[in-house]
Amino acid sequence: MPEPAKSAPQKAMEKLGLLRDIDLALHLPMRYEDETQLIPIAALRENEPAQVEGVVVDCQVELRSRRQLLVRVKDDSGTLLLRFLHFYPSQQKQMSAATRLRVRGEARVGFFGREMVHPVVKVVDEDTPLAQSLTPVYPASAQLPQAYLRKAVASGLARADLRELLPAGVVPQGLPGLKDALHYLHHPPPSASLAALEDHSHPAWQRLKFEELLAQQLSQLQAQRERALLAAPALRAHPGGLHEKLLAALPFQLTGAQQRVSEEIAQDLARPQPTHRLLQGDVGSGKTVVAALAAAVAIDAGWQCALMAPTEILAEQHFRKLVQWLEPLGLKVAWITGSVKGKARQKMLDAAGSGEAQLVIGTHAVIEDKVKFARLGLAIIDEQHRFGVAQRLALRNKLKAMDLEPHLLMMSATPIPRTLAMTYFADLDVSTIDELPPGRSPIVTKLFTESKRHDVVDKIRMAVADGAQVYWVCPLVEESEAVDLRNATETHAELSGELPGCSVGLLHGRMAAGEKAAVMAQFSEGAMRVLVATTVIEVGVDVPNASLMVIEHAERFGLAQLHQLRGRVGRGAKASVCVLIYSPPLSDTGKSRLKAMAETTDGFEIARRDLDIRGPGEFMGSRQSGAELLRFADLQEDAPLLVAARALAPRLLDEHPEAARRQVARWLGTKAEFLKA
Ligand code: ADP
Ligand code: MG
Repeated sequence: MPEPAKSAPQKAMEKLGLLRDIDLALHLPMRYEDETQLIPIAALRENEPAQVEGVVVDCQVELRSRRQLLVRVKDDSGTLLLRFLHFYPSQQKQMSAATRLRVRGEARVGFFGREMVHPVVKVVDEDTPLAQSLTPVYPASAQLPQAYLRKAVASGLARADLRELLPAGVVPQGLPGLKDALHYLHHPPPSASLAALEDHSHPAWQRLKFEELLAQQLSQLQAQRERALLAAPALRAHPGGLHEKLLAALPFQLTGAQQRVSEEIAQDLARPQPTHRLLQGDVGSGKTVVAALAAAVAIDAGWQCALMAPTEILAEQHFRKLVQWLEPLGLKVAWITGSVKGKARQKMLDAAGSGEAQLVIGTHAVIEDKVKFARLGLAIIDEQHRFGVAQRLALRNKLKAMDLEPHLLMMSATPIPRTLAMTYFADLDVSTIDELPPGRSPIVTKLFTESKRHDVVDKIRMAVADGAQVYWVCPLVEESEAVDLRNATETHAELSGELPGCSVGLLHGRMAAGEKAAVMAQFSEGAMRVLVATTVIEVGVDVPNASLMVIEHAERFGLAQLHQLRGRVGRGAKASVCVLIYSPPLSDTGKSRLKAMAETTDGFEIARRDLDIRGPGEFMGSRQSGAELLRFADLQEDAPLLVAARALAPRLLDEHPEAARRQVARWLGTKAEFLKA
C-alpha cells in the first residue's frame, strides 16, 4: 500500500527532527503566553502583553491612508480599539457587533485612545473557561503553524516513554523528576515565574539540561572506549629520520608552543590506538608546519598521510608549501581536488592507491570512494569546523580494509576556551598553540563608516606606493550569490578606476579553479597589488607581504569570521592594518562585534567575546564536533551541571549500561552514531 502523502506541517516537523514521541516531548517552549488571566480594559498598560474580554461595539472597514479593519470592544471599565491592517472578510464577519471577544496583545495609547494592532482574537461565551496553564510557544517554522505544533507536542508528551532512567540519588539535589520537569515546562501553572522559565534557571530546566549534558557525556565516553579498542599503526619518528631532516631544513625555528604540540602529537602517533586530537591555534600561529612534522613521522614509519582542506585555494597553498618542504627530502606529494581531471587525476589516484605518493593533499575530493590509499596511517583535517561529521568519518574509514584505523589530527583556528574544551570533549584530546612566531607586528584595526570610503581608498593608494599588498573583502549575502558577485565585480571595477596604474585582481567562488589559482599565484608573487575577493580567502590564505585588509560591510560578518579574515594580514614583518567599513546604524551585537575587533587581536579573547555575544550553544554549535547536538545547556552557565554529568557518566556506563544506552538513545536518537567521528 502506498504511504499517505505527508502534509506540509508534517514535513516541517521532520525537518526540525521531530520524528519520535520523545523528540516532541523534548521540544521545549522558547517562551509562554499568559492566557490564564483577564484584566479590565482600563488597566491595560502601554506595551505590556495582556488579555482582556469585551463585547464588540462596532466593526468597520476604513479606507483612510490604507484599507484597515477597525473593531471597538467594550467591557465595564472602558473601550479598546483593535486595528487590523491585513484581514479576511471572514474576520470582519466573525467580529460583528455584540460578539464577545477574548483579545490578547500589547496595547498602545494612540490618538483614538487604547488600541491593539493585530491582537490574537477568540470568540467566546460568557462562561468560556480561561486557560489553566501558561500557553507554550515552540520553536516552529513557516510551514508549521504554532497551533498544529502545540497539538503534536501535547500528544507526543502524553505518549512518550518518560520513565526515569537514572538510579536514585545521582541527580543533583533539588531537581525534579524528568516527567514532572517536562510537564511543568510544557504547561507551567499560572503562578510560575516567567523569568525563571525564560532564562532557563528554573529547576525543571536544570533537570532537562542535566539530562542533555549527561547524554552527551555518555555518548562521547562510549565513543572513546570504543576507540580505545581499535588498533592503529604505531607511528614512531626515527632518530635522524625525516622528521629531523624537515626540522633542519625549515627556514625558521619552531616556537616553544609548536615544539610542545608537536611532541604531544608525536606521542599520540606512537601509540597503537587511533589518535583523536584537535590542534588549535590562532590564525597565523603556524599550524601547517606542525601538520607537516606529523606527516613526516607517519611517512618515516612507512605509512601514508592525507591532508584535507576545505577550499581549493587552501589545498593548493598547502600543496605548494609542503612540496617545497618535503620534495627536497625525496618525498612524493599527490594532489587531488575536484578540478584535477582526466589523466592527471588518474595519475594521482594511482599514486595514492599504490602507496607511491606518501602524502596526499586535497579538498573533499580526497574522501571520494574512488580515492584509495595503500597504507593510510594519518589523516589531517585543516579548518576542521568546515567539515561535517560524515566527512570526518569517511576519512577515517579509508583504512578499514586492514582492520586498522588511521590516526586523526584535526586543526582549527577558531579556538574554544581550554577549560571548556577539556570538560566538554570527553572524547577529544586538545593541543593548543598559544604563541605566535616571533617578529610579527600587531595588526591595528580601524573602523570607518561607509561615508568615509574615499579615505580608505587613499590609504590603499599610500600602502601600494609603499610596496604593500592589499585585500578588499566584499560580504556574502546569504541568499544571493548573484548579488555578491555583482558587488565584488562592481567594487573591482570601481577600485581599478580609482587606483590607476595599480594591478587590481578579482577572486570569487564562482571562478573556475584554474582561474582562481592563477589569480592567487599573481597575488602571491606580488605582480598583483590589490585583491578584491569574496570570503573565499577566509581560511588559510598566506601571503606575508599583504599588510592592509579592508572589509566592506563588516557588520554583516560574524566575529569569528572577521577574525579569520583579518588573520590574512600581519603575517610578515610589515606593520599591518585592518580597516572595517560599516554602514550605520549598527545593531547592539553588531556594535559589540566591531568593538571586540578594534580592541583585541587575540583569537582566544575573540572567542571569549563571541561566546558572550552569542552564547555558547550557538558558538559551539556551528563549530565543534558533537556540540551541534547541545540544544539547551549552556556550557559556561551550566558548568556545575556539566561537571556533575561528567562525573556520573563513567559510573552509569559501568554500573547501568542499559540505562546509559537508553539515555543516549532518548536524547540523540540516530545522531548518536555521528558523535563517534
Ligand atoms: P595557521 O596556523 O594560520 O595555519 P600557518 O601555518 O599558515 O598558520 O603559518 C603562518 C605563517 O607563519 C606561514 O608563513 C609560516 O611559514 C610562518 N611560520 C610558521 N611557524 C613559524 C615560526 N616558528 N617562525 C617563523 N615563521 C613561522
Ligand atoms: Mg592554516
